[in-house]
Amino acid sequence: MTQTVKVSNLGYPRIGKNREWKKNLETFWSGQKNEAEFRSEMERIQLEHLQTQKEAGIDLIPVNDFTFYDHVLDAAVMFGIVPPRYEYDGGDIGLDLYFAMARGNATATACEMTKWFNTNYHYIVPEIGNQTPRLTENKPLAAYRFAKAQAGIEGKPVVIGLYTFLKLSKGFQPSETAEIAKRFLPVYVQLLQELKQEGVKWVQVDEPAVVTGLTNEDISLLETIYAEIAAAVPGLNIILQTYFEAAEPLEALLKLPVQGLGLDFVHDGGTNLESIERLGWPEDKILGVGIIDGRNIWRSDLDAKLALLDKLATHVSLDRVFLQPSSSLLHVPVTVEGEDKVKSVIKNALAFANEKLVELKLISSALENRDAVAAELQASRDALATFRALPERGREDIAAEVRKLAELPANRNLPFAERVKVQQEKWNLPLLPTTTIGSFPQTPEVRQARLKWRKGVWNQERYDQYIRDQIDEVITFQEKLGLDVLVHGEFERTDMVEFFGEKLAGYLFTRNGWVQSYGSRCVKPPVIYADVAFIEPMTVKESVYAQSRTKLPVKGMLTGPVTILNWSFVRDDLSREEVANQIAIALRHEVKALEDAGVEMIQVDEPAIREGLPLKPEDRQHYLDWSVKAFRISTYDVKDTTQIHTHMCYSEFNNMIDSISDMDADVISIETSRSHGELIVSFEEQDYDKGIGLGVYDIHSPRVPAVEEMTVNIDRALRVLEPELFWINPDCGLKTRGWAETESALRNMVEAAAIARAKT
Ligand code: GLN
Ligand code: ZN
Repeated sequence: MTQTVKVSNLGYPRIGKNREWKKNLETFWSGQKNEAEFRSEMERIQLEHLQTQKEAGIDLIPVNDFTFYDHVLDAAVMFGIVPPRYEYDGGDIGLDLYFAMARGNATATACEMTKWFNTNYHYIVPEIGNQTPRLTENKPLAAYRFAKAQAGIEGKPVVIGLYTFLKLSKGFQPSETAEIAKRFLPVYVQLLQELKQEGVKWVQVDEPAVVTGLTNEDISLLETIYAEIAAAVPGLNIILQTYFEAAEPLEALLKLPVQGLGLDFVHDGGTNLESIERLGWPEDKILGVGIIDGRNIWRSDLDAKLALLDKLATHVSLDRVFLQPSSSLLHVPVTVEGEDKVKSVIKNALAFANEKLVELKLISSALENRDAVAAELQASRDALATFRALPERGREDIAAEVRKLAELPANRNLPFAERVKVQQEKWNLPLLPTTTIGSFPQTPEVRQARLKWRKGVWNQERYDQYIRDQIDEVITFQEKLGLDVLVHGEFERTDMVEFFGEKLAGYLFTRNGWVQSYGSRCVKPPVIYADVAFIEPMTVKESVYAQSRTKLPVKGMLTGPVTILNWSFVRDDLSREEVANQIAIALRHEVKALEDAGVEMIQVDEPAIREGLPLKPEDRQHYLDWSVKAFRISTYDVKDTTQIHTHMCYSEFNNMIDSISDMDADVISIETSRSHGELIVSFEEQDYDKGIGLGVYDIHSPRVPAVEEMTVNIDRALRVLEPELFWINPDCGLKTRGWAETESALRNMVEAAAIARAKT
């Protein structure tokens, strides 16, 4: 039987092949471009993206996935949801107001930004108060018209679902959600009606919030929303799109009166297929099969994908299937094309957005006539097989080390209660010792120096000398301020993951593997393509040098295994846990090397542990267990007197405190200023009994906090826990700050610590 199975894309990266989108935004913001120039460049980029997808033969091309900043902000603006502090008078919402909401302006602070589900993309949180929702513009309609007029494309408008929009908004109690939905529904319906009148065939309504778990109230809210839409806009085809996890309970979602349901068959742990095998698939619905991973950068195993489709085909006929990426391609870079630094065996195993579209087309062709594309399928198979066979991906020495270590308990020799005594004896620190989190200002001069060295203008010797000079200065600087435990300043590091990636086996770096993080900000995660392993000491040189310049203790400074994992693109043939263990073992060698070199206070940062938490509550403990284990593997094997620190930039640990405690770090530094010391209470409630570094001031702003502000935070914490447990520090590294403000803020911090000491 031959038939054409339609290919539907869910969203295309915005940033452009060479980050033109980012550059356009930034030149506009800096005033080097006027609005007309800015808009016309945005149109050009948008058109290029549409054309690329058209040429790739995509049947359903998404429109309105493109934005000037963020798609959730777009929706808020479209519904007229502007927080009162912008003094919006109800007229047109221009770029000034739009960007003010995203970035703040002279009089009003920006809207909050937070993580988009379990990705590294951040959206702007809508603030719903008592605004009356109305349609200030119909952005999906404009995008649909644009694609049709400019590229002859019959686009598929993408709209965020009302349920998800409300779940992601703030400003009201969760119990009020159904009430608020009623206020929005007429406007939402109007939006869809206008699309229908225009002749739109399919609308993709994104409802990823359903995968985070549905209560009975949630289900009835979904029913209300979609029943209302179905009644008001009959005949409009809606595909309700889910992603990032299994859609459960599928029976409830199948009852919704929509014409299609899109499911993620990559990140669902097999649950979506199981549900379909159990429930069958209704005759009257399209199934959007999210089959190519929209979150990673690897070529797919097409044989496995075809096998999955064979299974699905017994429940749903393929003419009712859309082949899709598992999510929007927003989360992957644009194209592998320019990656000429990467060895061809590896490059052939990569698939960014454009290459994923090719894979989808190939699957569709294979379903139609496998023989006709036998050569392409074989080429794909060969590319994967050659890549998989690379010796560095299957190192027996690493496998043996992982087996040995991951199976052991990974305990420190003494429990904390006893370690703390020998450590106090060794280090002899004052009550409430003061320290910092690691980095000191990365000035343009420091970055210039690194660039000169990378380009070969400076040789290694010259660069090393420059770094040593920086270390000398920062050591003197800290001594003068009267800090008790010093750091070397991290001047040699660009980024806390890239730095280690460049020194470990198993990593590679792309030229253009950028993905949007928030607004115009893009990140280029390093790629773990093979077994991660220690090659030689990575931080010892700088730490030992720093220690040699002072009698005060200097902390060694590493990034932890879970953070390295969560901020990299990770190979997909091993579990994340297995990769975390490899990294942990590599770091364990580094910890040992530091200790052997006399660095006996070592901080292993884990700011990214929380962001890796699975979306489904029932999966979280398992993740925390292996994360904690990885941290312990990297840090347990040290002398009793060696003090292990860790750092996390937040302190809302909710149900994580037991796990944090299991990490068994001697000291953990956390944020305390933004929450005014309140969050320490949860540590008390959970009987947290190890050292805590109070992040008494917020380093995210250049403002210098007064001594009293910090004293309040310290006092608040000391009211609930023993003073012996506490350290005093800023709430994160200082690399984004200037020297002058750093000096004033740290001086105030040292004074606040002295005042607190005097009171105890
Ligand atoms: N040690 C790192 C620094 O000070 C920690 C950064 C972080 O928590 N993100 O920069
Ligand atoms: Zn931090």
